[in-house]
Amino acid sequence: MSQEHEPHDHHDHADDDVQEHREHDAPLTEVELRVRALESLLVDKGLVDPAALDAIIDTYETKVGPRNGAKAVAHAWVDPDYRRRLLEDGTAAVAEFGFVGRQSEKLVVVENTPKVHNMVVCTLCSCYPWAVLGLPPVWYKSAPYRSRAVIDPRGVLSEMGVNVPADTEVRVWDSTAEIRYLVLPERPAGTESMTEDELAALVTRNSMIGVARVQA
Ligand code: FE
Repeated sequence: MSQEHEPHDHHDHADDDVQEHREHDAPLTEVELRVRALESLLVDKGLVDPAALDAIIDTYETKVGPRNGAKAVAHAWVDPDYRRRLLEDGTAAVAEFGFVGRQSEKLVVVENTPKVHNMVVCTLCSCYPWAVLGLPPVWYKSAPYRSRAVIDPRGVLSEMGVNVPADTEVRVWDSTAEIRYLVLPERPAGTESMTEDELAALVTRNSMIGVARVQA
């Protein structure tokens, strides 16, 4: 563990409560009860298709949100000055792209190299850098990932398809309500002639959580 998990205070994040309180096995809040009641009613009356809701959520989880992070990563790969700024002050560097907002007030970017592999977890719930990655995937919020990422990070990485060599250090970063982490993945070999946009298209959400490598 690279850092202590500070106590969360999600009450500073009123609009996160629906998302995150569920992960603490707490009783449903007033807002959650209302959201669930409303969704059931709309589905019952045929006004809302649950599959359409899932599709919207999937769009934010896998398409819109992570593209922001991918742009910053690709820019860091082609511009050494931007890479330095991104690693020194992630919050300010992603703000250059206009990526600001709740859930990413303090963004720390950690760089994967042949010597160090970084991965991100929130052991207590689901803190996640929304401004650059969108909504967290379901597995990120799951109890097995949250516990096993710190107990057996190499095992978790291996199951997710990333085999980290024995002489590469694995660092696990525990997100909090105050600090969110983004992994700057390694630029794959064979991409020297690619444009920044082409590079950004290679960068996956999971590679920026540190549970995948970017493939050329
Ligand atoms: Fe959290």
